[in-house]
Amino acid sequence: MKYTRISAPAGKSIALVAHDHMKDDLITWCKTHKEKLQSHTLYATGTTGLKLEKNTGLSIHKLISGPLGGDQQIGALITEQKVDVMIFFWDPLEAQPHDPDVKALLRLAAVWNIPVACNVATADFLVSSPLFDNSYTKTIPDYQTYIAERSQ
Ligand code: PGA
Repeated sequence: MKYTRISAPAGKSIALVAHDHMKDDLITWCKTHKEKLQSHTLYATGTTGLKLEKNTGLSIHKLISGPLGGDQQIGALITEQKVDVMIFFWDPLEAQPHDPDVKALLRLAAVWNIPVACNVATADFLVSSPLFDNSYTKTIPDYQTYIAERSQ
């Protein structure tokens, strides 16, 4: 795989997702970091987004609910370079009906080199990083080279 470099802007697009038993943790985390978060563009799966808006007052672009396709919508945004950071509190103690979608989302975040926090401690590290509020040059797969090589 060949790679190329792109710049993630200072004002980032942040995807927020939490499974049902993790939603309170994400609400608390968003309240704690509301001042920082409100200067970025926020996306969330349906129920997570509704609960975050109601409990934090943050403005959120709400997608479809996760089990109905919202995880896949976030995955699609990642492939289009429209998400820069993902906070995804998945539940390690309960099976999910949309487990294949959860895996697919985590896989795409790895492919496209997206910073991902799956628990509060990692989310704290991310939001404390100077890169959170500044532009950041990162490496992603070079799709033009990838498709050119595969089409020969
Ligand atoms: P929800 O989806 O925000 O609609 O609950 C989250 C998920 O389970 O992926």
